[in-house]
Amino acid sequence: MKKTNLLLFILLSVNLTAQEYFQQELNYTIDVELDDENHTLKGMEYIDYTNNSPNDLEFLWFHIWPNAYKNNTTALAKQKLEDGSTSLHYATEEEKGYINGLDFKVNGEKVKWDYHQEQIDICKLFLNKPLRAGQSIRISTPFFVKIPNAKFSRLGHVEQSYMITQWYPKPAVYDKDGWHPMPYLDQGEFYSEFGSFDVSITLPSNYTVGATGDLQNKGEIARLNKLAEVTDTITKFSNDMSFPLSDLSTKTLRYIQHNVHDFGWFADKRFHVLKGEVELPNTKEKVTLWTMFTNNEADLWKNSIEYMHDAVYYYSLWNGDYPYKQCTAVDGTISAGGGMEYPNVTVIGESRTAIALEEVIMHEVGHNWFYGMLASNERDHPWMDEGLNSFDELRYMRLKYPEHNLLNNEIPHFFTKMLDLKDYTNKNIQGELMYFMNAWTGKDQPIELHSCKYTGMNYGGIVYSKTAIVFDYLMAYLGEDMMNKCKRTYFEKWKFKHPQPEDLRAVFEEVSGKNLSWFFDDMIKTTKHLDYSISSIKKETKDLLITLKNKGEINGPVIISGVKDGKSMTPVWVEGFEGEKTIRYFNGNYDHIRIDHNGYMPETNRNNNIMRTKGIFKATESIKPQIIGSLYHPEKTQIFFHPIMNYNIYNKHSYGLKIYNQFLPKGGFAYKVIPLYSNGTKDFTGEIKLSYKKFSQTAKYHSLTLSVDARQYLYDYNKEYTRIMPQLNIEFKKPSLRSKIYKYLNTSYVHLVKEEETLGFINAQFGYANNRTINPFSAYSSIEKGYNYSKIQLGGFFRKMINQKKQLNIRGYIGYVNTEDNIYNLKMSAWNGSDDYMFTERVFSRDNSSNHNLPYKQQYFSREGGLKHFTNDSLNSSQFLASTYIDYNLLKPISLYAELGTNGSKIAYGGGFTFNTIANGPGFNGGLQLYFPLITEEGVAHFDNYSNILRFNLYFNLGGLKFD
Ligand SMILES: [Zn+2]
Repeated sequence: MKKTNLLLFILLSVNLTAQEYFQQELNYTIDVELDDENHTLKGMEYIDYTNNSPNDLEFLWFHIWPNAYKNNTTALAKQKLEDGSTSLHYATEEEKGYINGLDFKVNGEKVKWDYHQEQIDICKLFLNKPLRAGQSIRISTPFFVKIPNAKFSRLGHVEQSYMITQWYPKPAVYDKDGWHPMPYLDQGEFYSEFGSFDVSITLPSNYTVGATGDLQNKGEIARLNKLAEVTDTITKFSNDMSFPLSDLSTKTLRYIQHNVHDFGWFADKRFHVLKGEVELPNTKEKVTLWTMFTNNEADLWKNSIEYMHDAVYYYSLWNGDYPYKQCTAVDGTISAGGGMEYPNVTVIGESRTAIALEEVIMHEVGHNWFYGMLASNERDHPWMDEGLNSFDELRYMRLKYPEHNLLNNEIPHFFTKMLDLKDYTNKNIQGELMYFMNAWTGKDQPIELHSCKYTGMNYGGIVYSKTAIVFDYLMAYLGEDMMNKCKRTYFEKWKFKHPQPEDLRAVFEEVSGKNLSWFFDDMIKTTKHLDYSISSIKKETKDLLITLKNKGEINGPVIISGVKDGKSMTPVWVEGFEGEKTIRYFNGNYDHIRIDHNGYMPETNRNNNIMRTKGIFKATESIKPQIIGSLYHPEKTQIFFHPIMNYNIYNKHSYGLKIYNQFLPKGGFAYKVIPLYSNGTKDFTGEIKLSYKKFSQTAKYHSLTLSVDARQYLYDYNKEYTRIMPQLNIEFKKPSLRSKIYKYLNTSYVHLVKEEETLGFINAQFGYANNRTINPFSAYSSIEKGYNYSKIQLGGFFRKMINQKKQLNIRGYIGYVNTEDNIYNLKMSAWNGSDDYMFTERVFSRDNSSNHNLPYKQQYFSREGGLKHFTNDSLNSSQFLASTYIDYNLLKPISLYAELGTNGSKIAYGGGFTFNTIANGPGFNGGLQLYFPLITEEGVAHFDNYSNILRFNLYFNLGGLKFD
């Protein structure tokens, strides 16, 4: 071999090993018939499977995903339950779905097959003889699908509206890493082999269908054109949502498509149709656009062709032209998010506003690129389609609606102005905030992570939002032209293939000529935070010497500029660095120098980005008082406040302000000051709380809070108390962020100064909770020590789910006390204000007599024995006390309850009903709970003195602000 040939040979073999990429080819022919009375599909499927891998295959994994809806042991049912949804867990037989009737043959010969050991929506075909590398087989099977109710996930029907997705037997992907069998899940949907589809759908003639592929029936195309003409002339849509009767005659619609990896179709008899066209920016080819919708939101859908047009146009411009002949969006009712993508066809849920509809349509259309043509493994790397797609969504919305932001759209202008929300961009609200809120509280997760491991919040906040904003940062750094060049190259190189994260990185680094390790290693693969600050500015002749400090963990590029009258002048990108770096910058008589004036960088702390060039306190931010609350402000130190009113019978009404520095939860120092003017004492009263909180993802704790709480109120007429409580609270790290298990340790010292005495109490409490969706439980143990007593207590709570709506709530308690002072006795009855010797609760009255007009002594706190009726003092205990309680929700909001307790010598019991309006929702919890004892150990309750035995609990929390 000659030397030159040897070199050529080496080059070739290097190239060969680098080019080990292969993908299988699957060409489907499916005939399917819809039975719209029984909501079933009957089909026959043929798959020509070509093994392009270098290996012989002895078996094939198949996805038979309609089985995900079969029972409550499927991976889907379990994931939904973990995410708090019991719909599939408690589904009726009629609502569930499945696939059966399978009879696999290969080249006409029957083959053995079996279900996956754990997943009934995966099966394995054992080939009679191995499928050799480079060879093809024809696989065939009949199948029967019972279509589930659409409320669970993506395959389903709402009466006679059909969403037929993930519905046919489909081989799993076989790639360089081997087989990828995966059960169907809500989170992390796709990974599929490319090929072609030739699908014939038979259904009653009056259905309108939107599907993957090009419709082959001229008659049906004419029918759709006609429907489009009719829709065009409608000026007012009716609100009739009823289904017309199905035609007795049927039609068979045939769809063909190449270079796709999935096939979805949607059928409804009520669809209006609109038709349009888009000319692609590069090839100037024309693509037909269809939208199909019911009367439900027809007024919003009137302009849907424009949304389709712009989506196809901009995605083609930024990534590469749409290669198919048609693109369709249909209006459907799906439970899983706002919309769902399939090749050439997307289904859109209820949107409420035109701009929301446009955003969902464009996002789903965009998936034709990120999922459809760039078919990455979404189960393993969900950011490669959802995240990159969200980045183009961010660009699209910013380009088309520069003024739009979600809050301005949803909240009346008066409030956005009052709450200082009007200056936030759409990126601030929809992109950054979700990421920041998780990052500030130690709950963020890396962008590169298996889709099953994300919390619900992070699937949105990290996979979608953070990916979008970090690519926006990368674009600001590389420039828009370079970003487009990278994306187009990525598309050109990887379209109709399965790109991996390293393939994307290779393209970006090669095209940009930059080492993007800070981006692909740190931004994408870790939860490290980005944060730069300005340490100092020195003047040197014409220049400024600006020293920057990297206070974060990522050496990403940083942009600085001089700012004059709010305008950024001559911005300069500084390559990332560790520690400090001094740069020379032209001194142009600026008001201040600022890092990232335009908000390109996803910095978790933006409050150290400004330094004035003159003055003494150069780095001090101006203070911005802000009523109620607001999001972070990158330039100002916010002080929040809102008016507050308090009531207890001694202070009467007190009015004042609550002043605080944290609205959204965050680590670090927080204060809360509540000065009040009391109508009762004509004097000032109130409270103050200082705390320091640290979140961690690496330590044994999740959060650690040190705080001091001080308050001063009256505890009796003209008797004032001062209470100071230092406290340490540890919330331990959970096994995983998705875990429902919480453990905490709380220790505190209460220093209580009353008129005649000074008291001190030491407390320690350990708590454990498993907040699983079905049968959650929690328990705590505590020790407490005062000057002349000590207490040990154990308590537990268990909720037994009977079905989706009915449940039993069970409480158990055991306590031991060592005391000679009655006030510290263990109480059988639930506490009221007079029992609260440490002054922990906010109460209307600390008086046990009923000489008030209002029944304040009936206020209760579920402490110690916790019985819901008042018990005789002889049932209290100076030693041992145990009790149990159970309730059953009869009919919302009414429950029946029963309770039992003993102090070792006597027994107390009771029963009755409870009226409960206490609700927990996002941003709100509170309400009123009333107990009506009907029978107690003293007999049947007397209705004439009901005002004395009824007990109540009342509280309100709004948006993290406690109105108390
Ligand atoms: Zn998406």
